[in-house]
Amino acid sequence: MESSVYLKKLVEEFHSATVATIGADGHPQTRIIDMMLWDDKGVYFLTARGKEFYRQVMEQQFIAVSATKGKAAVSLRGKVKNIGSEKLDEIFQKNAYMQKIYPEDTRAALEVFWVYEAEGEYFDISDPAHVVRDSIVIGALEARQTGYFVGSGCTGCGLCYSACPQKCIDLSDKSTVIDQSHCLHCGQCAEICPEQIIKKRS
Ligand code: SF4
Ligand code: SF4
Repeated sequence: MESSVYLKKLVEEFHSATVATIGADGHPQTRIIDMMLWDDKGVYFLTARGKEFYRQVMEQQFIAVSATKGKAAVSLRGKVKNIGSEKLDEIFQKNAYMQKIYPEDTRAALEVFWVYEAEGEYFDISDPAHVVRDSIVIGALEARQTGYFVGSGCTGCGLCYSACPQKCIDLSDKSTVIDQSHCLHCGQCAEICPEQIIKKRS
C-alpha cells in the first residue's frame, strides 16, 4: 500500500506517538508527541523552544516514532527538519485542542518539525491468524527489504511451512517463497530448514 495511507492513519487515527531521541547521558529517551499533520512529503509535529526535547531534536535531527491503536502499529525512523512557524496555523486549525493549550499568541512558543526522510513499517495483528506487515518510506529513501528469504537449494521438504505460525510460505511453485506481508520475522523457518538456506536480510 502507498506510504501516505499509513501516514494518514498515524496522524488521524493514532495521533499520539512515542518519540525517541538520545538524552544528554547518551541513553534513549521517549515521550508522547502528537502527530499533527501529514501530506505526501511526510509527517509534522511541534514542540516548544524551551523543552529539552526541542534541544535534542535540533541537535540530533533524527527521531524514532512508534504509535499504536487497537492491534495496529506504525513505526518510523528518520530525519527531521525545523520549519519554524510554517504550517503552525494549519496545525492549530486542524487540531483545535491546541488552541486551549496555547491560547491566542502564546503559540509563538512553538516550532514545527517535519519528518522528511524516514523508513518504517505498519504492523497489524487485528486478525491474529493473518498478520499484516508493510513498509513505509518518506522522502528520497528506497524501500528496503527486510525479514527472511529462501535461498537456492530447496528440496521442497515442507518443514519450514509446518513450523511457520502464519503459514506464509508458498511451496506450490518451483521456488519456495515467503510472503513478506504476513511474516512475523520469528525465524522458526530458518531454524528448522535442514538445508540452512533460509536467511535473514540484514
Ligand atoms: S519468519 Fe516466522 S512467520 Fe516468517 S516465514 Fe519464517 S516461520 Fe513464517
Ligand atoms: S525447510 Fe528448507 S529445504 Fe525444506 S522446503 Fe523449507 S526451504 Fe526448502
